[in-house]
Amino acid sequence: MLYRSSIEVSRLTRRQALRRLAAAAAAAPWAARPALGQASAPASASAERPNLLLICVDTLRASHLGRFGYPRGVSPNLDALAANGMLFRRAYSTSSWTCPAHASVFTGVYSPAHGVDNPDCALPPAMPTVAQLLQGAGYATQAIVSGPMVSRKQGFDRGFDDFDDRTYVAAAQVSGVQDPKLVEEILLYRTKSADLIRQNAERWLFDAPRPQPWFLFVHFWDAHADYKPPAPYDNLDPSYSGPIDGVIKSDYVNADMPQTDLHHFMSLYDGEIAWTDSQLGLFLKTLVDRGVTRNTCVILFSDHGEEFFDHGDKGHAHNLFEPLIHVPIMAYWPGRLAAGAEALTPVSLLDLAPTLLDLAGAPTPEWMQGRSLKPLLFGEAPALPQVPLFGALFFRQRSQLCILDYPLKLINDTAARTFEVYNVADDPAETTDLYPATHQLADSLFPRLQAWWDESSAIHARFA
Ligand SMILES: [Zn+2]
Repeated sequence: MLYRSSIEVSRLTRRQALRRLAAAAAAAPWAARPALGQASAPASASAERPNLLLICVDTLRASHLGRFGYPRGVSPNLDALAANGMLFRRAYSTSSWTCPAHASVFTGVYSPAHGVDNPDCALPPAMPTVAQLLQGAGYATQAIVSGPMVSRKQGFDRGFDDFDDRTYVAAAQVSGVQDPKLVEEILLYRTKSADLIRQNAERWLFDAPRPQPWFLFVHFWDAHADYKPPAPYDNLDPSYSGPIDGVIKSDYVNADMPQTDLHHFMSLYDGEIAWTDSQLGLFLKTLVDRGVTRNTCVILFSDHGEEFFDHGDKGHAHNLFEPLIHVPIMAYWPGRLAAGAEALTPVSLLDLAPTLLDLAGAPTPEWMQGRSLKPLLFGEAPALPQVPLFGALFFRQRSQLCILDYPLKLINDTAARTFEVYNVADDPAETTDLYPATHQLADSLFPRLQAWWDESSAIHARFA
């Protein structure tokens, strides 16, 4: 029983809990298996042109994974993926919500370059996506998505032979609701589909043989609010009796809510992680059992995290603090990547497109702002030269930029004209603003932020 093991873990010391989590991860049923079974990967997929499986677990806060020290035991399969592959411990999103983050994943450029700052914006038509580039390189391309913020409207379907958004489109149609506002509410807050998404991905993989290598993007939405996981994952806090039901817009969910209510609210979010993790475990087991992982590099990421009043607010898309932009990135390719390796080089979601192209043997366009992580994946380099990472948020009256020259992070609220500086290694909770005492830090970082803005704007102008 998930909840029983979770409660056990919560009573352990952190060291004991981590040891137990490591053991559980190593013992995940799919992880210890050699890649047996019938080879479903086509012969043309090879070490030089492997299949590429890109998985997004939307709204997955890095610090809620066992591999990052979370003691609740809600992510055994994600932890096993990292334990048997490579974990990028210092991975960052380019924003704090779905559209701009996914746009960076698909284009390899930052928000001011792709311009997808709200759900009604689309990728510049002339800017090729990684799916288009892989398609051009001879890959079969398929997307299976589950949330309304990764849609055709933003141009995310470009380059996919098939863009399967049928699961969440059907969710609104089945309800029979006509009011567009209510349809949006259903798609954003009530879509539960991790099991269907997994089954659709398995069906695509195994129903028809393909003569060429493939690129498959699978997107899980369930950890996004509202938090209403199915049983038994809704029972991580069994002694609770109160008004919290996982609805994020509830009046009971506010900065002054009692600790017991907040704990239960987070328990329901954790339940969504556990539910999604269970489906990932089934998916990975199938991949290993059917021999897919022999010729397939799996890369998993989240587009942003989630806040539980760490900085006064809930959900996401409202600031650039660590709970929202520090994300998991991990890779798995048994026999090819060193099991249990960790990279400490700070990396960004916009590095994923160059990495995928590099793995496919395709050139990375010179205008992409990311860089390939392949040397880290294959142990060709213990680290990459550190470069500053950037973030941007222009949504719902927010206007913020950040530069992370690890471990120093400068956040510039361009509307309020304020600056904050944090050392995210010493102060990951970002409680001590270093700016008032050390203006020279901001003075050294701000010109680089300006130069990045100018570079990004020039890329946007080139493709507009
Ligand atoms: Zn998202």
